[in-house]
Amino acid sequence: MQRLLFHVWEIIKFSYPNVSRTQTSKAIHQVYMQLVDTHVHINFDVFQGNLDSLQQRWQEAGVAHLIHSCVEPKEFQGIQSIADRFPELSFAVGLHPLDVAQWQSDTAREIEALAASDRRVVAIGETGLDFYKADNQEQQILVLQQQLKIAQKLNLPVIIHCRNAAAKLNEVLTDFWQREGSVKGVMHCWGGNETETQWFLDLGFYISYSGIVTFKNAKQVQMAAKVVPSDRLLIETDCPFLAPVPFRGKTNEPSYVLHVAEQIAQLRQTPLEQIAQQTTANACRLFGIQLKNQ
Ligand SMILES: [Zn+2]
Repeated sequence: MQRLLFHVWEIIKFSYPNVSRTQTSKAIHQVYMQLVDTHVHINFDVFQGNLDSLQQRWQEAGVAHLIHSCVEPKEFQGIQSIADRFPELSFAVGLHPLDVAQWQSDTAREIEALAASDRRVVAIGETGLDFYKADNQEQQILVLQQQLKIAQKLNLPVIIHCRNAAAKLNEVLTDFWQREGSVKGVMHCWGGNETETQWFLDLGFYISYSGIVTFKNAKQVQMAAKVVPSDRLLIETDCPFLAPVPFRGKTNEPSYVLHVAEQIAQLRQTPLEQIAQQTTANACRLFGIQLKNQ
């Protein structure tokens, strides 16, 4: 690799004397790197009509696969048709904790049937607990438990959304593991401190970092990101939300997952290629996907 890099740089510096070796190296490594953005919502209106250019940019950034999350079962067909266009897309089906008012007596059956209907479904979710401004905590817990049961039955991982609810979530999951057995899954867009992170690692979960880990004021999140075992680490954008620095405040998109990977690499003082390789291997293991060039 180093030799190849040297040769390419030798060639490039004759044609483009202003391009630095670092820039060249970065571009070459990107060609070899494969990233998985483990959480996107590219079915949202903000992306309508832009999906082809979005794909071009995620390919340029080395994003080889994407996991599309789902906030309500109604989205299923729309996500399916996006996956028809982009073979590098796998997806989830589930009901978000902020939408649990929609839960009805047949919703569990609906989610289970949809999940079983398409081989590209690789997870149940997103589910979880969101207690920020919530007055329906009991309902959220019930709906989470129902979705854990579906995931367990279909042997799929759960995508967990957790906001202002880590202690309760730990309690609910620990109780479920004891009564029903464990479920595999990921804490998506994770914003917990070291202690909270350890709770979910102990439950067997993967920890996925989003643009939040690049924010200046996210010191606790950054500390925790340093100590997650390398075989449990994932990266995501959660686009269109929470764009990483230097795009903070703008519409997030899958190509920006590279900035999350770069920040994780810097925090852990690990080469970017290694973070890419580890997080991609982890995503393939958790979601049971295989990349074309592997
Ligand atoms: Zn999401």
